[in-house]
Amino acid sequence: MSSHPETKLQVSVFDTKVYDREYLSGNPDSREIDWKFHDFRLSADTAPTVAGSTAVCLFVNDKGDRECLEILKECGVRMVALRCAGFNNVDLDAAAELGLSVVRVPAYSPHAVAEHAVALLLTLNRKIHRSFNRVRELNFSLNGLVGFDVVSRTIGVIGTGKIGRIAAQIFRGFGSRVLAYDVYPDHEWANSAGIEYVDFDSILSQSDILSLHIPLMNETFHLINNTTIKKLKKGAYIINTSRGRLIDTTALITELKSGHIGGVALDVYEEEEGVFFEDLSGKVLMDDELSLLINFPNVLITSHQAFLTHEALQEIARVTVTNLIRGDRGETFLDGTVLTDCTRSSPGNNSRPS
Ligand code: NAD
Repeated sequence: MSSHPETKLQVSVFDTKVYDREYLSGNPDSREIDWKFHDFRLSADTAPTVAGSTAVCLFVNDKGDRECLEILKECGVRMVALRCAGFNNVDLDAAAELGLSVVRVPAYSPHAVAEHAVALLLTLNRKIHRSFNRVRELNFSLNGLVGFDVVSRTIGVIGTGKIGRIAAQIFRGFGSRVLAYDVYPDHEWANSAGIEYVDFDSILSQSDILSLHIPLMNETFHLINNTTIKKLKKGAYIINTSRGRLIDTTALITELKSGHIGGVALDVYEEEEGVFFEDLSGKVLMDDELSLLINFPNVLITSHQAFLTHEALQEIARVTVTNLIRGDRGETFLDGTVLTDCTRSSPGNNSRPS
């Protein structure tokens, strides 16, 4: 493979941060790629910046709607590589009609997300975030820092897919009673892991801690709402590392104020777009509900960082770089990554701009 700059595959990468650039360009096969890293997002407005690239690489908040994809196509793009699992931000029907191949990274590190959920629970319960700040101020008092033994609590895991079952197993490792709920329960796994499947109402009413690991869909939008939140035990903790819109924020704030909910740890938030991943220090936060949540002593928020481990970033880069190169050569994409495959249906896809 030649490393001459003219023969390299040109890829425009949108919404990049330092770690995206580091891991994508650090992948050994990326010497075949000429990366054009942008910190702005892709939309119909920014799409013309792809001129000269035959592929684009997107993240969760880039907007690949029909209008945008048409501009990409006109500019000579043939492939869209999502460096995430979700693909709700790309119009796949339009992509297929336009002959654009779309690929994604279906799983990078379920351990990364599960471990972050556990880290959130332990931090929130033992108030590590508060004691860290106190000690830095030379305040060595323990008042207000009383937690509980996790072993003595019942933990409910909603969604026992790749991430949920790892989280459930770690929780079992504490010796806690672990309940699970999933529309497709795997009883064999549950039996071997010492975990008990129950129905939705039972997991709400019996759990001291509820951890959410389901995708956002029409059926799961506001799963935790005004009605369901009241079915939780008084003082229950909620951990959400899945998607913000699983929880109705207004209902959550009401029940935090009433004391019905004892603590909340969120890695995702309903209105996180344009806030999470950004450095807004020195600016006024315009989201009143988020401002309120940040100020509750029993709420812990991280900025959608559960996936952010070395292993996950390496895997995202590996799958993305491999697929970009394979797509450029007209070869088969990696198993399970394809959303639309137009590499073989349009001859000449493999040529690069001169
Ligand atoms: P998965 O597809 O492996 O598992 C999802 C599970 O949810 C499946 O077992 C499915 O049967 C179950 N499910 C679907 N609808 C349900 C419903 N209505 N009620 C009960 N169970 C239902 O997914 P995963 O890889 O484990 O990911 C879980 C979530 O984690 C996803 O929403 C994903 O977006 C989120 N996630 C977050 C981050 C982050 O950085 N915070 C990173 C990756 C994934």
